Amino acid sequence: MAATYPCSQGRPVLVGLINTIESNAAMLSEIDGATGDGDHGINMSKGARRTREVLGNQEVTVGQGLEMIGNVLLTEIGGAMGPLYGSFFNEMGGACQGVEFIDKATFGKMLGAAVEIMQDLGGAKVGDKTMMDALLPAYDAYKMALAGDPDLTTALQSMIMAAEEGKESTRNLVAKLGRASRLGERSRGTLDAGATSCSLILRSLADTLGGGS
Ligand code: ADP
Ligand code: MG
Repeated sequence: MAATYPCSQGRPVLVGLINTIESNAAMLSEIDGATGDGDHGINMSKGARRTREVLGNQEVTVGQGLEMIGNVLLTEIGGAMGPLYGSFFNEMGGACQGVEFIDKATFGKMLGAAVEIMQDLGGAKVGDKTMMDALLPAYDAYKMALAGDPDLTTALQSMIMAAEEGKESTRNLVAKLGRASRLGERSRGTLDAGATSCSLILRSLADTLGGGS
């Protein structure tokens, strides 16, 4: 069980995110294909591949790594999620700049900053069938965990369990925002692509920052 994660070790955090996105790209596009245009995995993996190129052999801090993927998604990737996830990672990275160790409180600030920018830019609420259906319960669960046990790993576990549940909840929802909303009632019955990628992204962060799940 880890109580903190050294900020200087950003490379494994970023490589973990890149690998997670790339290895789930086909699944994410397939899910997006059921209610959208089937490009979510393509968009995200293009961003991941490009980030791997920009990273090269460099060592980065956690903040630099998150801002690296954030800037690539924000400036080079289209779709609804390129700019939204770009801002998500940039805010998360910005919230740990100048910090030596990520402890439970610091990650809470990072996640909180990411949630806030998503609310400002995307405006989605729980129940709209978007990535917020995974992110908002994950943040709530994390905040609950902040009040109890001091361990970072345990709080991250609570976060990913809630993200997974939130992702599953999208199966029974009708899309209210984005491309899938055009389908109305027909969007019910399949998972949301963004909620699925969000759950995977949070799990990847928990695996590296929390020292494995
Ligand atoms: P596009 O819909 O432009 O093809 P993507 O396929 O990359 O973009 O992303 C689709 C995902 O975007 C959806 O599954 C949904 O989770 C997410 N999304 C759409 N609109 C919003 C929004 N306003 N806020 C948060 N997430 C959104
Ligand atoms: Mg799409």
